[in-house]
Amino acid sequence: MSGAGDEIAVGFHAGDRPRVVTSRFEHADSHTIDRYLATGGYEGLRAALERTPEEVSAEVKASTLLGRGGAGFPAGVKWGFTPEGVWPRYLVVNGDESEPGTYKDRLLMERDPHQLIEGSLIACYAAGLSQCFLYVRGEMPLAHERIATALNEAYELGYVGRGIMGTDFSVDVVLHWGAGAYVVGEETALIESLEGERGMPRLKPPYFPAAIGLYGQPTIVNNVETLSNLPFIASNGSDAYTAIGTATSPGTRMVAVSGHVVRPGVFEIVNGSTTFRDIIYGEEFSQGIRDGNELKAFVPGGGSAPWFVEDQLDIPFEGKEAGQAGSMLGSGAVMVMDSETDIPAAALTLVRFYAHESCGKCVPCREGGTWLLRILERVCSGHGTTADLDQLLQVGQSICPGDMPHAASERLGLEAVPFPYKMTTICFVGPSAYAPVHSALTLFRDEFEAKVTAAPTRITIPVTAAGS
Ligand code: SF4
Repeated sequence: MSGAGDEIAVGFHAGDRPRVVTSRFEHADSHTIDRYLATGGYEGLRAALERTPEEVSAEVKASTLLGRGGAGFPAGVKWGFTPEGVWPRYLVVNGDESEPGTYKDRLLMERDPHQLIEGSLIACYAAGLSQCFLYVRGEMPLAHERIATALNEAYELGYVGRGIMGTDFSVDVVLHWGAGAYVVGEETALIESLEGERGMPRLKPPYFPAAIGLYGQPTIVNNVETLSNLPFIASNGSDAYTAIGTATSPGTRMVAVSGHVVRPGVFEIVNGSTTFRDIIYGEEFSQGIRDGNELKAFVPGGGSAPWFVEDQLDIPFEGKEAGQAGSMLGSGAVMVMDSETDIPAAALTLVRFYAHESCGKCVPCREGGTWLLRILERVCSGHGTTADLDQLLQVGQSICPGDMPHAASERLGLEAVPFPYKMTTICFVGPSAYAPVHSALTLFRDEFEAKVTAAPTRITIPVTAAGS
């Protein structure tokens, strides 16, 4: 499995860009305790323990560190949502990265597990959390193995456990291996899974984790990349952090680029100011479209995000800007499609994933995803009709009432509604199944029409008389 991780990282080249979470990536032994300690490891935790939890929490709040799991909510503010005087309270580290095209948390866990452990401990100290549960996706055995080794080392050296670094601060870390369900990336489903139940999302309200989380106790769920930023902030201060990036999106951000580019990979970019054009065409990033082809479309923030086209290339990789343009940065994954791409087939690939990953708890997602899949399969196999295209949109309306937003909507005279989607489902998986259908049909309807007009007459199955 280590080979897979090494292969992905080929695309990582930092150049002169500031690095917050990938500063050790160029070292082959970046995951070891020796390398970690030789490069400032656990100094952020030491600095944090010399201050009060309130001071550390205020520092993180001042850094405006935005969550990197998809919602982009400020981490320091999220910590403040736990009710006063309710104990124990927990930290859950969401390492269940599984959004299509997204593979940056995996690298952080494989390449720098001590950084994640240190960040988790800083969060526990600042937010008054007494135990940490580190949930790693089932398909990431190398990440699991390296975190397990790192935890053993950290326990042995007194960075985790009782009386950390000679203080009265104590936290245990439990490493949990998931079973590989996409929906467990949703925080309440992850908590269900941790409790030994099927990984199905809970209703919010009342189950907001900060109030009623793991074992019914206040729980903070933070993403791997979010926590990996904390050692830098604790060591260098919020001013050093906000000096990188923009006022609304400080620091850096990990972006996983895949698809039809010359150099796919994971890149740590300066937050807020780096544009999609920089990321896709920049010499230090993905170096343009493969085989000299043209860009056809790109998914800006993981498989759930509405698609962008060339018109949106100059938008910065920044949450607000992407939202105003009708999409989102989500999990930080950019998937590029070139001029050779069969768009209906690309949409089908994504829909197949989400339909398969539906947990089945709510009808619009369970049935709607399957309907979208079946209709798209019919269209792509040449057996569809024009009515199928309308039916795709109608099924989508039952999952996401109102048209999905997209910059192209206005151009094509379609109603656009503000992000986030209206939805009839408990979690975001339902709308995620419709997002690629809506984007593909809105932007490239001609490709769908070419498939259905070229289709043979619909196959009819003869009905036989009962009992014959
Ligand atoms: Fe489950 Fe889909 Fe409903 Fe989410 S939207 S709770 S995955 S059925």
